[in-house]
Amino acid sequence: MKFGGTSVANVERIRNVARHVKREVDAGHQVAVVVSAMSGKTNELVAWCKETSPLYDQREYDAVVASGEQVTAGLLAIALQEMGLPARSWLGWQAPVLTNDTHGSARIESIDGAGIIEGFKRGEVAVVAGFQGLHKETGRITTLGRGGSDTSAVALAAAVKADRCDIYTDVDGVYSTDPRVVPKARRMERIAFEEMLEMASLGAKVLQVRSVEVAMVHKVPTYVRSSFDDPANPGAGTLICNEEDIVEAQVVTGIAFSRDEAQITLRRVADKPGVAAAVFMPLADAGINVDMIVQVVSEDGNTDMTFTVGSADYERAFALLEKIKDDLGFSSMAGAKDVAKVSAIGIGMRSHAGVAARAFHALSEKGVNIRAITTSEIKFSVLIDEAYTELAVRTLHTLYGLDAA
Ligand code: ASP
Ligand code: MG
Repeated sequence: MKFGGTSVANVERIRNVARHVKREVDAGHQVAVVVSAMSGKTNELVAWCKETSPLYDQREYDAVVASGEQVTAGLLAIALQEMGLPARSWLGWQAPVLTNDTHGSARIESIDGAGIIEGFKRGEVAVVAGFQGLHKETGRITTLGRGGSDTSAVALAAAVKADRCDIYTDVDGVYSTDPRVVPKARRMERIAFEEMLEMASLGAKVLQVRSVEVAMVHKVPTYVRSSFDDPANPGAGTLICNEEDIVEAQVVTGIAFSRDEAQITLRRVADKPGVAAAVFMPLADAGINVDMIVQVVSEDGNTDMTFTVGSADYERAFALLEKIKDDLGFSSMAGAKDVAKVSAIGIGMRSHAGVAARAFHALSEKGVNIRAITTSEIKFSVLIDEAYTELAVRTLHTLYGLDAA
């Protein structure tokens, strides 16, 4: 069971979490619980690091931000004991959860579940601090990147060979799109690992992307459910599972969107071997992630190249390209930050033709201009003016029959 920040925001809510845990223990299960920090806590800790020094040491940053989860793990163990359940807290270094040394966004390498399983045999609930681990060689505390407790939970479930991993959050499942944008969004009963991975990567904020990868690789049946349900009578949530386990497959399952996009266009780039590498290698070396790339057919040996980066990287990317402009030999550069990416996802796309074409038609009827398009086996994305995001999301949601009755 994993509980996010809003679910452990104060002592009363932590008591409520303990009731959810007790229900599962009473049903005869052995339970490990992973907790996030109280909501807002990690932001506060991050801000303190920046305030102390803008160029803070990443290892000390991890020592600071890992503390939020230490508090909630201890408090939940106390709340469980208060209800008569034997429980103890486990910090990342105690389990241990071993990671690499990429401080601030470390990857889990292995989890030793032996101690936790020993505890199960004594009837103990394990309360594990999410988001944190240990780099064994240096003995330093690491953290997994924002939202990393989801990954802690799924990885731990895989390590102790759990029957399932329940991620409790402030919504009661995964929706066909953000219900704040489309009130007719539907909660899904089930979604395939691959679809969830695309949804999370393309902007749905319900789970950390990495956690879905881990769930997919280790085939951990993962439920997203609400901690605000009555602990005595919780809803089923959404099951993330193998695609074979989905009976009623739809062509499009969900619409995701992201406003954190920026577009850069290079005009009149020489169309010859090595140019794309010359543009994108320096960006990669600077750790800037490039997403959509469009290159038009060349005229007189020159071509236009358009691509997107995360809006947080926009200024850096622009400055970097400006600097190497003469080497690259393009004539001018343009950019926009007020763009958004809207994507439709569904494993049914593999076997249906014309899925994206219908969207292009529907968007044109609403006067939405498409700046760039990318497609893959189970998704397509369009880049549009940010002002049209909601309209585009609603249009596609209706088009593919996703609106709730
Ligand atoms: N507390 C961490 C964060 O806010 C990890 C998590 O909540 O998953 O990013
Ligand atoms: Mg989260």
